[in-house]
Amino acid sequence: MANSQLSSIIIVGAGPSGLLLALLLADLSPRPTITILDAAPTLNEAPRATHYGSPAIQLFRKAGILEEIRRDGYMPEKICWRKLNGERICGYDRSLLHDGGLDGDGLTVYWVGRLCALLEREVKKRTGVSVQWDHKVTGLKSGLDPQDTSAALEVEGPGGKTTTYTADYIVGCDGGNSTVRRLMHGQRNFPGFSWDVPIVATNTMIDLDRFGWEDTQFVIDPVHWFMAARIGAHDDPKQNIWRISYGEKAGLSNEELMERQEMKFEQMLPGHPKPSEYRILNKSPYRVHQRCVERMRVGRVLLAADAAHLCNPFGGLGLTGGIVDVGALMQCFEGMQKGVADDRILDKYCEVQRRMWHDIINPVSTANIRRLHLQDPDRVLAEDEMMQLVKKAETDLELSRELQSAGDMLVYDYTQHYRRASGGGDAVLAKL
Ligand SMILES: Cc1cc2nc3c(=O)[nH]c(=O)nc-3n(C[C@H](O)[C@H](O)[C@H](O)COP(=O)(O)OP(=O)(O)OC[C@H]3O[C@@H](n4cnc5c(N)ncnc54)[C@H](O)[C@@H]3O)c2cc1C
Repeated sequence: MANSQLSSIIIVGAGPSGLLLALLLADLSPRPTITILDAAPTLNEAPRATHYGSPAIQLFRKAGILEEIRRDGYMPEKICWRKLNGERICGYDRSLLHDGGLDGDGLTVYWVGRLCALLEREVKKRTGVSVQWDHKVTGLKSGLDPQDTSAALEVEGPGGKTTTYTADYIVGCDGGNSTVRRLMHGQRNFPGFSWDVPIVATNTMIDLDRFGWEDTQFVIDPVHWFMAARIGAHDDPKQNIWRISYGEKAGLSNEELMERQEMKFEQMLPGHPKPSEYRILNKSPYRVHQRCVERMRVGRVLLAADAAHLCNPFGGLGLTGGIVDVGALMQCFEGMQKGVADDRILDKYCEVQRRMWHDIINPVSTANIRRLHLQDPDRVLAEDEMMQLVKKAETDLELSRELQSAGDMLVYDYTQHYRRASGGGDAVLAKL
């Protein structure tokens, strides 16, 4: 059991999870010094997360940024599954639940690039927090041994100069290719598997409203499977921006994936558009994975979000799951700072967050991507229990509310492990 009060924390990675963690930790009292190190020169602009479920929304509210997110983002109302010919199979209409209490924490669309810019701006307003770009973590000098009283990183700064950074704890929020994870767990560091089918994600200005398309649709097809989700609403439907993410054939190089995009759009989108009928704002190929690390804590080094676990993006569980880690770590550090928890609460963090991934995030996201390309669209309603529930929920509002609140299962209250006020004695944690 290590000394619990914190005077300094290093966060590796200024992506959405690292920045949000820094913003929340800046409110701890007494406030530890928080240093964020990022290898890149600036924020990542790639087309990634857009949709956030209720656990993330709750934390955005706690961090004081929800109002701006809701002002510049939007809450999708209609989500459905379709066949390639556009035929609607089943779906949700969230507008029917407007008086049902879901609005407050409801699914929200906001580009992750904007989220990071907002978080960086808020972080910079806080004293005691610094973001250091062009600082690449290359080594771990101490922190893994239970006897270590601090953790130290080797960091390559601008011009290749190497410096040692030391803190009470290090949190690796350095993404799917995490260096911190490799330094903790070596080469065999990430159990799980990678899908052989790659995906291509685009942000595209196109008019899909004229086909009666809803805010989000998942198209089930063995060849042309994809998601088309409105991510920017405009009065002129021709200027609406859609996230169009589609599956591709295994074995293609990134160059081939990019070259095939025009052909894919023409074959799969309604109206078979030529390039002159839309404008691509960004596009990126991705390999997708289902992986979770065996330990999210070793000594004074922790992992969170993509550095700790990955899932495919269909269903928006990637960053939402990462943000759940951030909220969990915040509660653990808060308990330690208040003196009502010792460092064993960080073992609880490792146990619970891994369980969430194994029991919920992995099976749900796996079913989501399998449904799109391995399910027969003509038989999906007969064979897929989830699709049957969504169909039933079209007329059963109670069930609809229940299904759409399912994300709340990812939230775990770590304060139940805080030391009881009357407990006295040695730092015995409740329920550990
Ligand atoms: C196409 C696509 C769509 C997605 N859509 C959704 C969605 O709708 N909803 C959702 O919840 N999730 C979604 N996701 C997942 C989501 O984007 C990721 O989970 C999220 O971006 C991960 O954030 P992060 O902060 O953990 O890591 P990252 O955003 O990857 O940030 C890691 C940071 O660490 C830095 N770094 C890396 N190595 C080092 C080092 N050695 N030293 C210092 N710094 C380092 C990097 O420069 C980077 O800035 C999607 C993903 C993809 C690919």
